[in-house]
Amino acid sequence: MDSIGNNLDSHIKLAQYKEQLLLKKWAPTYNLSLLDGTHWYHRTALVVMADNILRRGVISLFHDHVTARHAGITKTLQLITLYYWWPNLKTFVTEYIKGCATCQMTKVNTHPTHPPMFPITPADNTQPFETIVMDFITKLPQSGGFDTILMITDCRELTTLWVARLDDGTELKVTDPKEQQRDVEEEEAESEERQDGVDCTRQQAGCCWRRRSFERLQCGD
Ligand SMILES: [Zn+2]
Repeated sequence: MDSIGNNLDSHIKLAQYKEQLLLKKWAPTYNLSLLDGTHWYHRTALVVMADNILRRGVISLFHDHVTARHAGITKTLQLITLYYWWPNLKTFVTEYIKGCATCQMTKVNTHPTHPPMFPITPADNTQPFETIVMDFITKLPQSGGFDTILMITDCRELTTLWVARLDDGTELKVTDPKEQQRDVEEEEAESEERQDGVDCTRQQAGCCWRRRSFERLQCGD
C-alpha cells in the first residue's frame, strides 16, 4: 500500500481505463455496473484489474497496514469486499495471508502436525515394572564401543531404573538373568542385615538391584 500511497483508488481507476473492453465483457458475467457513471463496480466495490501491485496494495491496506492489525482471512475479506472486488478475491486474500510472515510468526497454529502429549498413567494396583515405557537415545558419541542407550522407565515408580546399551545398534548388552536373581537375593540379605530398622521388601530389593545395574552401566563396568 505504501508504494502507491493514498492514491490507491486513482491507480485502480486508471487501470480500469486501460481494460475497458475486458470490463465490458466481465459486466454480465460478474454483474458489474458503472455505478458512478464512469468506473466499474461490483455492487458498491470498485473493480481491481489483474495487477499484482494494486491487488496486494488493497489487501495490505486491510491486513498489514499500521492500522490493520493482521486480521484473519474472514475478517480481512469482509472488510475488503465493502470497497474492492476482483474475480477469485477470496483465493487471493487467502494466499496472501498464508504467506504473511508476521502472521506465520505470531498466530496460534490451529493445525498442529504433532499430536498433544499425555502422561502414561498406570492402574492403581500396578506392580513395579508392570507398566513400562522404553525409548532409544541414538547416535551418541562412542563410549567403550557403544553409541546407543535403551531407557526403560517404570511408570509406577516414575523413575528410570534400568539402562542398557547397544553396540552399533545391534547387540543389546543386558545383565545375565541368573546374575539378576543373585543380585536380588544379595539385596534382600543386605536389607535384612540393616540395623537402621527400615524394612526393605523383596520388591524394593529388586528396585535396588535395578538401580545398581543402572549405576554400573553408567560407570561403564
Ligand atoms: Zn498478517
